[in-house]
Amino acid sequence: MSEMPSFEALPLAEPLQRALREKQYTTPSPIQAQAIPPLLEGRDLLGSAQTGTGKTAAFALPILHQLHENPQRLIKKQFRALILCPTRELAVQVGKSFETYGQHLRLSTALVYGGVGAAPQIKALRRGVDILVATPGRLLDLYEQGHFNFDGVEFFVLDEADRMLDMGFIHDIKKIIYKLPVERQSLFFSATFSKNVTDLANEILDNPAEVRIAPEKQTADAVDHRMCFVDKDDKMLLLESLLDEQREKPGDHLTLVFSRTKHGADRLAKHLTRAGHKSEAIHGNKSQGARQRALENFRRGKVGILVATDVAARGIDVKNITMVVNFDLPDEPEAYVHRIGRTARGGAEGVALSFCTSNDMNELRAVERLIKQQIMTHDAHPFHQPKVESRRESGGKPGQGKRFQRKGKGGFSGGGGGFRGKSGGGFRGNGGPRGKRNFHAKRGPRSAAANG
Ligand code: AMP
Repeated sequence: MSEMPSFEALPLAEPLQRALREKQYTTPSPIQAQAIPPLLEGRDLLGSAQTGTGKTAAFALPILHQLHENPQRLIKKQFRALILCPTRELAVQVGKSFETYGQHLRLSTALVYGGVGAAPQIKALRRGVDILVATPGRLLDLYEQGHFNFDGVEFFVLDEADRMLDMGFIHDIKKIIYKLPVERQSLFFSATFSKNVTDLANEILDNPAEVRIAPEKQTADAVDHRMCFVDKDDKMLLLESLLDEQREKPGDHLTLVFSRTKHGADRLAKHLTRAGHKSEAIHGNKSQGARQRALENFRRGKVGILVATDVAARGIDVKNITMVVNFDLPDEPEAYVHRIGRTARGGAEGVALSFCTSNDMNELRAVERLIKQQIMTHDAHPFHQPKVESRRESGGKPGQGKRFQRKGKGGFSGGGGGFRGKSGGGFRGNGGPRGKRNFHAKRGPRSAAANG
């Protein structure tokens, strides 16, 4: 970590340096240290990184710098930087980051996303704006209604591309990129790189610099994550007992609980509130206003527990989340990494606990295969079920049921993510079978996009 340059050593304009000092950011995270210099030179960028690594500042700072150094009058119905995000929550957050880092610059930011009235968004676009942060669907709607054009775009960021494709935005994204001026700087971020993601990157980027911040590294090092083997009927009681324990601890604690379904999220929030743990739920069936309100109550600590589904939780960046509970394991293993990354942000402490019943063994195996480690068992609670845990062992696969988190050598090489150099400590075994499975299939982006 000590080799990391300070922000002051980066050639960023003084008003940006001032904002960083005020935020008390001193050291760039690995993705910032690697991405900012080539971006300031005007290169395209292919970033393999996820939320929680400092990715937003990695793209916002060089864009703000360049907009500031090359000032231009606003042109009606145009914008100079376009940032596309998969969800409204992420768009709001990215917009806030631009405003925070750019607070001493005279640049304007606008947001465009669905689920709320379009009139204020149309009004902001009419005058023209420097930076537009948008979700694809609403952006295209407003474009098709003639409220703006793409002619002024100098900077284009596609954030969380894998998620965009999962959410079915591929056609919208393609429509948008074909309308962008050819002369532009493009940035492409994704946590995972399937063939579709790589193909899309190749369409958008021109000889990009590549930065890879391995998500596995983050999982392994930043978050203390463990598995609770329980009977299905005990899940609620286990959750309550974990929340009771949290309450005993000094300080403020926020807990994020993940539910597989929207109904499940509502049910859980209601039940917990009745049991004396004030909770709110966010998911795709709630209005945008209700989601923002719940998030704000949570951020401020008015409500200590937020129950969320994956889509709604995407990109939630709330400090002080000290516990993440996977009440249900995710259907998609990638979501596990995103979920547990909601805690221990920016170097804080955090724990992620997942509930696994005898019906969830396939999901558990999929997660462990992806993160290339066996998740340690948490059995220091009254609902631990050795019988359920033994199903994991009979399944055979990773580590044959050892009670530690295995870190296979070689699996986590690379630049390292997050802000912490240290690993969680204490729970890692140094043994475990090695090299049995082929883990190469999912590593980082293929180099196809490397040299255009
Ligand atoms: P992101 O990956 O962009 O969602 O950022 C994750 C969190 O880290 C956010 O809360 C940021 O405010 C914070 N953060 C970003 N860069 C730094 C930095 N260099 N030093 C400390 N905190 C940071």
